[in-house]
Amino acid sequence: MRVEYVPTICPYCATGCGIYLVVKDGRIAGVEPWKEHPVNEGKNCPKGRSAHEFLYGKERLEKPLIREGSGFREASWDEALELIAERLKGAEPEEVGFLSSCKLTNEDLYVMQKFARCVVKTNNIDTPSRFCHSTTVPALISTVGTGVMETSTMSLEEADCFIIAGSNIKENYPLIARRIMRARERGAKVIVIDPRRTITARDLADIHLQINPATDVALINGMMKVILEEGLEDREFIERRTVGFEELRKYLSELDMGEIERITGVSRELIREAAVTYARAERGCILYNAGICQHVEGIGNIRALADLAMLTGNFGKPGTGVNPLRGHINGEGSGDMGVVNVFYPGFVRVGEDAARKFGELWGVEGLPTEPGLTYMDMIEKCRILYIQGTNPMVSAPNTNDVRKKLEEKELVVVQDIFMTETARLADVVLPAAAWGEKTGTVTEVDRRVQLMRKAVEPPGEAKPDWKIVCELAAKMGMGEKFNFGSAEEVFEEIRRVVPAYAGISYKRLEKAGGIQWPCPSEDHPGTDTMFADGKFRTPDGLGHFFVVEYKGPAEPVDEEYPFALLTGRVMFHYHTGTMTRRTPRLDAEMPSAWVEINVEDAKALGINDGEVVAVKSRRGEIRVPARVTGNIKRGVVFIPWHFSETPANALTGPIAEPPSRMPEFKYSAVKIEKVEVRG
Ligand code: SF4
Repeated sequence: MRVEYVPTICPYCATGCGIYLVVKDGRIAGVEPWKEHPVNEGKNCPKGRSAHEFLYGKERLEKPLIREGSGFREASWDEALELIAERLKGAEPEEVGFLSSCKLTNEDLYVMQKFARCVVKTNNIDTPSRFCHSTTVPALISTVGTGVMETSTMSLEEADCFIIAGSNIKENYPLIARRIMRARERGAKVIVIDPRRTITARDLADIHLQINPATDVALINGMMKVILEEGLEDREFIERRTVGFEELRKYLSELDMGEIERITGVSRELIREAAVTYARAERGCILYNAGICQHVEGIGNIRALADLAMLTGNFGKPGTGVNPLRGHINGEGSGDMGVVNVFYPGFVRVGEDAARKFGELWGVEGLPTEPGLTYMDMIEKCRILYIQGTNPMVSAPNTNDVRKKLEEKELVVVQDIFMTETARLADVVLPAAAWGEKTGTVTEVDRRVQLMRKAVEPPGEAKPDWKIVCELAAKMGMGEKFNFGSAEEVFEEIRRVVPAYAGISYKRLEKAGGIQWPCPSEDHPGTDTMFADGKFRTPDGLGHFFVVEYKGPAEPVDEEYPFALLTGRVMFHYHTGTMTRRTPRLDAEMPSAWVEINVEDAKALGINDGEVVAVKSRRGEIRVPARVTGNIKRGVVFIPWHFSETPANALTGPIAEPPSRMPEFKYSAVKIEKVEVRG
């Protein structure tokens, strides 16, 4: 038997751990640790250790399918692509929407957005990053000039104080948590901000600020007020590197700590202790994720965190900064590649100048100049949807409404690796090659570009996403603009149009650990720490303070719906479960959902641990067993959202205004009812 070891990157979270695929007779038989890989040093979490299993899961797509009655019939590639091309030719640009995925490679994503802009002439393109960090990008661009992680995973060990805000990092980024644990062994302090006493709060926190949901702004303002009262701000940094401090100082001076205590549910003594601990640290590091971002006021939450870091001068050194933890393996890359309604590749803002610049680079006239629609707005308004590797029937808010909208569309194309909940509603289904079956690059949480290698052939007639889209472009008469012979050829074009990637090549990416952008030339080593040159990336090079007022959630609890529902992830599953629910080892560990409810609340409702209850919102209802615990605040409940048979997103709803259009996944008003058992 021929055995081969192929080095690659885990397909799940954005930590970017290295692994070896063990290939036996053309099949991936297992995963082995990659000990020399600097990110994970041979360690992997349960998802990484069983990363290959989903490839052989049921409902793998192997041939193009076309809807026939209530089912599908098999079709040739030619027939399926002809059908799509004809329908696209007959549509106006604004009638077509492209929903892509942060699981895909940079090459897949780049080609998809190029197709949307060059062939269909629309900026209607987006990814589920809309549901993760659409608040990060505008918030951090307005404060420090760029919406990225500012330090590296390895440099986290250099921090001596962490604020972990709205992230269950030990469960969802265990190999990043490992760095924090190492720093902690050397004396670093950890402050966790979370309404739940998660495993992160329990195992890592020196101080747990167990706030009421959606009160982060009030808490952070309170911490800044303390820092100023104690004289712990970094005056020299503020004067030399920032603007807007005076307005913020004045606003904070007028806040009442008693009111902050009341709003947040955290005592002023604990707020003071956390503020002083962070401000006194030599290197303070803020890490945040969905608990901060997934609010209608998410932009305000992140601006407040940036204020806190600027107030204390925590930028430009390894182990500092305000660091968004992107969830998907290629969340960062999807933004870098321009798979966003308002940015061309390299975060060039959509407009006349961008259209001219990319028109020249691509040799195509008439590129779109107006911002496109966002993810949910495309589901609402477009007649034709091209859905690539994303599964809104599980991930989008208010899934009952999403189903209705998809059923009404003139044409829904789904390009994916499995017959997902969304693919079942499609008119045309295109089989794509999965991770391990194609080569390409991804850009991890800390701007680390890494190479994922092909180890085996895709099943049946499945093809890499970038190749499918190139073939569709050819059907629409634009083949010469999509004449790529390999993923590497696509990457060579990416290097030419995205300056931060100019110095990165497939050859250089053979090195374990890849290269962190910006990397402007082939002799540049890559960038571990942003802003180390003493300048932010704003037009004036300065950090901008914002006054952020506390506003609260969009749908506050009331008498009828008295519980705040938080949705979230768990260690054994990944997003919509398309891959992990088809991984026997992971699904056996956690086969179904539950609702976490406080002991006192359960007692008041007469609910016992394990009893199935109905959770209802203004948009839907699901039935799940109760998990009664003291780890969640009274009035708050939590449901993991990976499970399509009990879709937590049937309950979620409010969506922010532009620019983020972020759904408030971290606060929906719900009620809990006992389910009558008929005798
Ligand atoms: Fe994969 Fe993330 Fe686990 Fe590393 S921490 S093995 S990248 S899921």
